[in-house]
Amino acid sequence: MTAGVFLQKAGFETEIFEKNAAPGGQCTGWKRDGFFIDNCIHWLTGTKEGSALNELWKEIGALSDDVGVHEKKMFFSVRQNGETLTFWRDKERTRKELLALSPEDKAEINKLMDYVKLAESMTVPVEKPFDAMSPLDFLKLGLSMKEMGKLMKEYGKIDMNELAMRFRHPLIRYAITSYMPKGYQAYAFLVSYATVTSGNGDVPKGGSLLMAERIAERYRDCGGILHTNAEVEKILINKRKAEGILLKDQTRVSADDFVCACDTDYTFRALLPAEYMPKALRRQYAEREKYPVASGFQIAWAADGIFPEISGTRIFSCEAFTVGCSLAGSMSLQSYDYEPDFAPLGKTVLQTNFAQSEEDYRYWENLYADKEAYRKKKQETAEEAKKRLIAEYPFLEGKVRILDVWTPMTYTRYCNSWQGAYMSFITTAKAKNVTVPGVIKGLDNVLLASQWLMGPGGLPSAAAMGKFAAWRLIRKYSSVS
Ligand SMILES: Cc1cc2nc3c(=O)[nH]c(=O)nc-3n(C[C@H](O)[C@H](O)[C@H](O)COP(=O)(O)OP(=O)(O)OC[C@H]3O[C@@H](n4cnc5c(N)ncnc54)[C@H](O)[C@@H]3O)c2cc1C
Repeated sequence: MTAGVFLQKAGFETEIFEKNAAPGGQCTGWKRDGFFIDNCIHWLTGTKEGSALNELWKEIGALSDDVGVHEKKMFFSVRQNGETLTFWRDKERTRKELLALSPEDKAEINKLMDYVKLAESMTVPVEKPFDAMSPLDFLKLGLSMKEMGKLMKEYGKIDMNELAMRFRHPLIRYAITSYMPKGYQAYAFLVSYATVTSGNGDVPKGGSLLMAERIAERYRDCGGILHTNAEVEKILINKRKAEGILLKDQTRVSADDFVCACDTDYTFRALLPAEYMPKALRRQYAEREKYPVASGFQIAWAADGIFPEISGTRIFSCEAFTVGCSLAGSMSLQSYDYEPDFAPLGKTVLQTNFAQSEEDYRYWENLYADKEAYRKKKQETAEEAKKRLIAEYPFLEGKVRILDVWTPMTYTRYCNSWQGAYMSFITTAKAKNVTVPGVIKGLDNVLLASQWLMGPGGLPSAAAMGKFAAWRLIRKYSSVS
C-alpha cells in the first residue's frame, strides 16, 4: 500500500490485489464476542515528530495530526520470586531502579543505560534504496547516527544471553533473556528500548487495523484501486518480463510493472520460479542457525474489570509447561486498557504471546493436518496458560476467560507467512545485517517490497521497502521520458 500511495501521487495508475477481505496483512485486528483483539502494534517506530520515518507515516496516512498516539509509560516489566523490575520510558528512573536492585552491577548498569541514550539517535533511512545512495548520502547518514558505531561495537557482537550474563542479579538476567526470542543481537534490545525512551515508539490511537485502514483510504483517495479477496496465483512471465498476473479465480490482469509485496518465500515458491530469488535472500533462508525466525502462540483474554496493577507489558516466570514443542517457563501479559473501545465498558482485553521457534512452527503445521487435534491442543495449551496467569495474579480468578487462541500456523494461513513468522530474519550475533535490494535479476519489470528485505522487519521495514519500490519505478519512467 505504501508503494501504491507514492506511485499514485507520482501520477501512475495502480491496482492492488490482496488475498484477504481486509487490507493490512499482519497489521490487523479482529472482533470476538464484543471485544477487539489488536494483533500488531506494540510500538510503532517513527511516532516522534521530525524524523524521515514520521514523515513517511504521515505521507501514507498512517499517522496524522488528528490521530494521536498513546504514550508508552514502560517498555516492559518483569516479576520473578516476588521481585519486580521495570524498564520505564523514563530511562533515569530505570537506572535508579536497577541500581537499587543490584548495586554490585553498577558498572554494567551505567554502561547499559548510557548506551540506551546513544541508541536514541538511531534512525531508519527511508529516503531512497540503499543501493542508490551516493557516498555523500552515506556520509550524512553516518554523521546523523555516529553514536550507532559505538553501540554496534559494544553490543553488536553479543547475543541476549551474553548480555544477561554480564549482570550478577538474577532478575536483571531474567529481564534481558525473557523479552526477545533468544539469539537476537543485544544491540536490538538496546535499540528497541531506546525507541520507547526517546518517545519515538508510541502506539497510534485506534490500533493496528485502523492504521492499516487509514493507509488503504489514503491509497484510494489518491485514485488507487484496491481489490480485496483477490488472491494472486502466479505472475506470468515471458522471457525477461512479467506480462500479467493470474488470480485464483483464473482472471488474468496485465500491467507494465509489478510489485510483489507479500512474503518473499511465498513469492519465489508460488508466484515466481525459485531461481529468481535474489542471492542475498537465498543465503539467509539457507543459513538457519545464523538467520532464524520466530513466531508466537497467542492468547487473548477477556477480563471482567480494569486492573491498573497489570497495565502495560508484564513478563513473569511460571511453572514450566509445553507450548508447541518448547518448554515455556515464562509468560507475558499485555493489557489493552489504554484503548477503552477495545472492550465493553468496565472490561479489558489482555493478551499473552509465547515465542515460538521454527521447530514449534513445524509442530503446529503438522498438527493442523488434523483440524480437531489442532483445535484441541490450542485450547488445552491456553487452559494451562490460564492456570499460570491466575497463579501469578490471583485477583483474576473467576474474572478472566479465553477469548481467542492463535498459533504460528494462523499467520501462514492468513498471510502466507514463512514459518508463521511475523518479523523478518533475526540477526544473530554471528550474522551480518543484510538489506536486499528489491530488484530481481533477469526480470526487468518486477520489484519486491516486503519486510523480509530488511531485518529485523516490522512495519518500518515494510513501509520503507514499499517506498523504495515506488522510487525505482518513478525513476525508471522519469529517465525514459
Ligand atoms: C503479534 C504481532 C506483533 C507485531 N508487533 C509489531 C510492532 O509492535 N511494531 C512493528 O513495527 N511491527 C510489528 N509486527 C510486525 C508487522 O505486522 C509486520 O512487520 C508487517 O505487517 C509486515 O508487512 P508486510 O507488508 O511485509 O507483510 P504482510 O503484513 O504479511 O503483508 C503481506 C500481504 O500480502 C498478502 N498476500 C499474501 N499472499 C498473497 C497472494 N497470493 N495474493 C494476494 N495477496 C497476498 C497478505 O494477505 C498480506 O496482506 C507485529 C506482528 C505481529 C503478528
